[in-house]
Amino acid sequence: MDYTLKCTRCTKEYGPQSTAFRCKLCKSVLEVSYDYSTLELNAGFRNEVPSSQKYVQFLPLSTPLRTLEEGSTELKAVDTEELLGDGSVKLHLKIETENPTRTFKDRGTAVEITKAMELGFSDVCCASTGNMGLSIAKYSRHFGLSSTIFISKDANTEKLRKIEEQGAKLEKVDGDFNDSLVLAEEFARYNQNFLCGDYHYRKEGQKSLIFEMLDQLGYQVPDYLFVQVGNATLLSAIYKGLKEYKKAGLIKKVPRLIAVQSES
Ligand SMILES: [Zn+2]
Repeated sequence: MDYTLKCTRCTKEYGPQSTAFRCKLCKSVLEVSYDYSTLELNAGFRNEVPSSQKYVQFLPLSTPLRTLEEGSTELKAVDTEELLGDGSVKLHLKIETENPTRTFKDRGTAVEITKAMELGFSDVCCASTGNMGLSIAKYSRHFGLSSTIFISKDANTEKLRKIEEQGAKLEKVDGDFNDSLVLAEEFARYNQNFLCGDYHYRKEGQKSLIFEMLDQLGYQVPDYLFVQVGNATLLSAIYKGLKEYKKAGLIKKVPRLIAVQSES
């Protein structure tokens, strides 16, 4: 589909070739905004076998997705008679630890790495608390890009070791995630790096989680969807994916989304 990058606050639009990761006027985050009149879905789209390439028409890409076979994770039915004492409730769990680096982050990373390569970048960077950094390090190495990960020096040492093992340059930050974020954005700007992280392209990649679930449920939209949240970027990606499928006529309703966050 044709698309622009649209500011989520002041609605200024940028072309698909723009490398901006924030609005140049108001510094807010951007979002990929599609022109649905350019969508050309096969009549049998819903029956096509789910795969990472199946959903490319809902992605802002002009080349095939660079994939490490992320996605296609199990949707596991839970025995609700045993768990809740009410077998009439249907409950499913999406097992995202089946992804290459064991988190949903790989879905977004595949799109970011593909986009970085389409735009001609050979270096990427990001701020991370661990999981995203590992995912970006692994995909970068596989597809021949160099990666620099900004991470708090107090991060879990096992995570730091795994990221380094993937050949990434580690920048240990004397501060928290927000300090890492500021440094990564500056580094990207001054070193012509493609900035990975919770920006518009990652959000697009994470939509595949809900697209896949709908395939696995035979397009029967669940009543409720529970999503664990930190910054709620996955929840926001799922909501965007649902709205887009509704616009494309693939589903008629959107489930009620429930965000679940740890108390502390
Ligand atoms: Zn703006």
